[in-house]
Amino acid sequence: MSVVSKENKNVWYLPGILTGLRITFKHLVKNIFNKKQMLTLNYPEEKYEYSPRFKGNHILTVKKDGAIRCTACMLCATNCPAECIKITASEHEDAQVEKFPISYEIDMLRCVFCGFCEEACPVDAIRLGPEWQTPGKNGSNFIYDINHLAYRPQLKGGVQSAVDDQDRHKAGI
Ligand code: SF4
Ligand code: SF4
Repeated sequence: MSVVSKENKNVWYLPGILTGLRITFKHLVKNIFNKKQMLTLNYPEEKYEYSPRFKGNHILTVKKDGAIRCTACMLCATNCPAECIKITASEHEDAQVEKFPISYEIDMLRCVFCGFCEEACPVDAIRLGPEWQTPGKNGSNFIYDINHLAYRPQLKGGVQSAVDDQDRHKAGI
């Protein structure tokens, strides 16, 4: 970066334009012959690979049988600083399952991707995954429901929770 002094009264701009074109042409040739070193990413054909720890779009995990892992305890919603999680709980027909969410929604336009929901969850039912793209044409697309959070095509049938019910019951949790 160069600093242009106010005293510079040079109004002859052609050398400046030619210098700029020379630099542009130099980078063009360099990029054509050395694509691996190219700094520009040709998005969306090329996507940046973030760290596996990147906190992107939310995932609701599932149990071994594919059912939603969430127990509708509301800890994530209580801890969410943006108040963007809305859960409706219901009793489960299986006596061993105390509660489950019949509805779980996250308003992605309010979410600040802080990860507090993930931290608060006692059964690894919610995670912030590596996806970061949230395209959509109107506001309603950004309220992610339970089906999108747990079973969207990118998740290939669902991501299994690390907390197993049988292990949990054995531990008396
Ligand atoms: S990442 Fe933060 S703001 Fe977003 S839903 Fe979770 S707790 Fe709320
Ligand atoms: S996602 Fe986790 S913290 Fe949130 S309601 Fe479900 S079990 Fe509780």
